[in-house]
Amino acid sequence: MTQKKPRFPAQVLPPPSALSPRPVPRPADRPFERSGERPVGGAAAVFSQALAPLPTHMVRGQSAFATSNLGEFASASSQQAARERMARRLMAIEGMHPAVIEAMRIVPRHAFIDSALIGQAYEENSLPIGYGQTISKPTIVARMLSLIMYAYADHAGRIPGRILEVGTGCGYQAAVMSHLATEVYSIERVRGLHERARDNLRPLRVSNLHLLFGDGMAGFASGGPYSAIVSAAGGDAIPQAWVDQLGMGGRIVAPTSTDGGRQVLIVVDKIPSGLRQQALETVHFVPLKSGVA
Ligand code: SAH
Repeated sequence: MTQKKPRFPAQVLPPPSALSPRPVPRPADRPFERSGERPVGGAAAVFSQALAPLPTHMVRGQSAFATSNLGEFASASSQQAARERMARRLMAIEGMHPAVIEAMRIVPRHAFIDSALIGQAYEENSLPIGYGQTISKPTIVARMLSLIMYAYADHAGRIPGRILEVGTGCGYQAAVMSHLATEVYSIERVRGLHERARDNLRPLRVSNLHLLFGDGMAGFASGGPYSAIVSAAGGDAIPQAWVDQLGMGGRIVAPTSTDGGRQVLIVVDKIPSGLRQQALETVHFVPLKSGVA
């Protein structure tokens, strides 16, 4: 067992009953979702289903995001200005949740990347973070987190309860998530990245975020049940552990490979009648790997 308990001060977590049951949100609250979704009886059934083809309006082209040449900038105010521009770009995209954009307007993305790349911190780029891994583009971060926020449309500001991120990487998305839920767990399998994220996050003093080192394919059972689980790495299927650790009414958002070799965003909702799965747009995430490194 490589997981270890968070080093943060002990915190009183809400009882599991605080997380469930919750009402299933209305389709109108969930703008990206397909109307043909269907409840199924169990995990095995839902994951054996072929992934549905994607409606073209869900596929986002790179060309929609003209990147501005921010150049090198050193001062805090220019970084803030670049962040504001990023937030305005995100706001113009359909389906982005305002609370997510607000969180991204606050979290200093430039503080999570190599200083040589700071000029690109708020552009529409994925950037290297070491160990062959990358920080996702701002639109991808906003998209995935908006999908979990819209699962909780009745709680516009914050998701009640705990959420789990698989793949801490540099810690940026975890920092954004800390603005969106009561409690956040984030797990990373590469020790060097886990430590880097800890260093990156220390100055931000995020008290509701717990960083874990271990294989996130097993989830983190002691932190569950989760209101949402977001994976920043793509596997061949959604691990059963994630489904088991998801609370009733909760949502998993994870890149997953299709039989055809594409990778798409998969959304799984745990509802009283079982699980409901939807396949959204094509994405390109680093692989979800087992074990630790
Ligand atoms: N959210 C991150 C993105 C990191 S890229 C950020 O904001 O920077 C995806 C990360 O997933 C990589 O760091 C990779 O090491 C990690 N990863 C891949 N498989 C994993 C697993 N089984 N458990 C935990 N982390 C994993």
